[in-house]
Amino acid sequence: MRLGIFGGTFDPIHVGHLVLAEQCREQCRLDEVWFVPAAAPPHKLDSAITPGKQRVEILELAVAGMPQFKISDIELKRTGLSFTVDTLGAVKAAHPHDELFLLIGADSLHDFPTWRDPDRIAELATIVAVNRGEPSSVDASTSSALLGETISSRIQFVTMPGIAVSATDLRDRVAAGCSLRFLVPRAVEEYIVQHRLYQQADSEPVSSSFENSVSGSQSSGS
Ligand code: ATP
Repeated sequence: MRLGIFGGTFDPIHVGHLVLAEQCREQCRLDEVWFVPAAAPPHKLDSAITPGKQRVEILELAVAGMPQFKISDIELKRTGLSFTVDTLGAVKAAHPHDELFLLIGADSLHDFPTWRDPDRIAELATIVAVNRGEPSSVDASTSSALLGETISSRIQFVTMPGIAVSATDLRDRVAAGCSLRFLVPRAVEEYIVQHRLYQQADSEPVSSSFENSVSGSQSSGS
């Protein structure tokens, strides 16, 4: 099986995430895409994050009826920071015959050398780098200068239509009393209203989670 791994905070999942996943599924001929919500993203330790259970419930609503999209709670169950290399290693150990594809934004390639064990990540998975509509600052011709030949040879580029939506924008919209209609699936919009999520701006978080209580040294990268 060709298995796409798409990590993120997904607080909440939105149309940008869904289009990215679908374009990667199609262009890389993936059998499944697994959305992997992070427990403690190393680059977001100072941010309040909605509890993992609720982010998973929202993800389930978003992918309902799409059998090729699945949700993995592997990072939520693991203690400590959510490092991509650990997640890929665990998935590979559990599914040794599957071919793994790590879905990331092409702009993240700039930070990739700061992630924990980038060489091992590239061994474990093909890196699917997604350009969002406009030419990326990293592409097939420039990636080897940035990342070296070995990692660069493991990158596959995908292009998706640019969708200028971020979860931060959506949380701010809710706090300002604005609609999320068509920016998230309808069921996700309803869940956010019913559970009164994101009522306050990020500077005054309504919910923090066990993820934020993780202690340890902060690290850049994933
Ligand atoms: P936040 O605003 O809270 O930082 P986000 O919207 O950027 O969240 P994340 O969950 O942090 O979402 O992102 C997970 C992955 O989705 C990242 O690789 C990110 O590059 C990608 N992503 C986020 N927004 C979009 C978008 N509009 N189009 C395509 N990819 C996106």
